[in-house]
Amino acid sequence: EVKSITDLPGVGPATANKLIEAGYATLEAIAVATPQELSAAAGIPITTAQRIIKAAREALDIRFKSALEVKKERLQTRKITTGSRNLDDLLGGGIETRTLTEFFGEFGSGKTQICHQLAVNVQLPVDKGGLSTPDQVAKAVYIDTEGTFRWERIEAMSKRWGLDPDEVMSNILYIRAINSDHQMAIVDELFNVVPKDNIKLVIVDSVTSHFRAEYPGRENLAARQQKLNRHLHQLSRLAEIYNVAVIITNQVMAKPDVFYGDPTQAVGGHVLYHAPGIRVQLRKSRGNKRIARIVDAPHLPEGEAVFMITDYGIAD
Ligand code: ADP
Ligand code: MG
Repeated sequence: EVKSITDLPGVGPATANKLIEAGYATLEAIAVATPQELSAAAGIPITTAQRIIKAAREALDIRFKSALEVKKERLQTRKITTGSRNLDDLLGGGIETRTLTEFFGEFGSGKTQICHQLAVNVQLPVDKGGLSTPDQVAKAVYIDTEGTFRWERIEAMSKRWGLDPDEVMSNILYIRAINSDHQMAIVDELFNVVPKDNIKLVIVDSVTSHFRAEYPGRENLAARQQKLNRHLHQLSRLAEIYNVAVIITNQVMAKPDVFYGDPTQAVGGHVLYHAPGIRVQLRKSRGNKRIARIVDAPHLPEGEAVFMITDYGIAD
């Protein structure tokens, strides 16, 4: 499995260093280079450079596919119920595998509750809206950056479906990410973990908090967004390569004018500018009611869905 440039054939530590110094630090950069450039930059024979480029392109799946292959790939996409019929309908049936889905909204809008509910629901059998088969339970990874994960909620949400709460909890791999580098390292590691363990859902709650805290203010915005984009790109590859659903959350203030110095906030708040995926905005309504809206997804119908956060989870 080729995940980084050091996995490419013929790239030892010395060549890797030369490539990185010359600006070819990623598979993407190598995939679009010419053999001549790469040969000059790393001091390697042209034929080796050709081999490296070919391997990078294969790893990134850069090649023509027939429309039939595209169809077959899309047919492998599966959906996970959110627990709310209304929200499922808005999403075209539920949360999709192979896709990055972002929930963004103000504090208390229900992002974390949805994450908990999906970590439970993915374990349901296929005919109940989950991804477990008779011989294999579908598992979830929960990357918690804010310390808001509560096993008590998993317990309550499991009982709702008549699932054994302890069994459900044993199938949720939990990790607390302590800073943005740790968060990114965890996702790198997932490329090894996900295929071995029938993991069908990866949650990052929240994807942005460490990045915001570590790169505050306008002067750090470019650096922050660049690093965050790399992280989102990794998550998106994970979703695509292993056909898993990836859920990320992103807290934004209700009043955009509070973020006068931060254009990523001013234009709507979501972080998925460059990564392909689905963005869902959550708003508080009266009491335990919440309103979801899909932001710029041409293939999904416009409109809003009302759902509730109850004791037993996300419902209509
Ligand atoms: P966010 O992650 O978007 O900040 P949360 O997902 O943590 O928000 O949602 C918090 C809200 O969920 C609370 O305001 C509360 O209304 C609701 N909530 C949390 N726990 C329960 C529960 N046990 N029963 C009912 N509602 C709950
Ligand atoms: Mg939260």
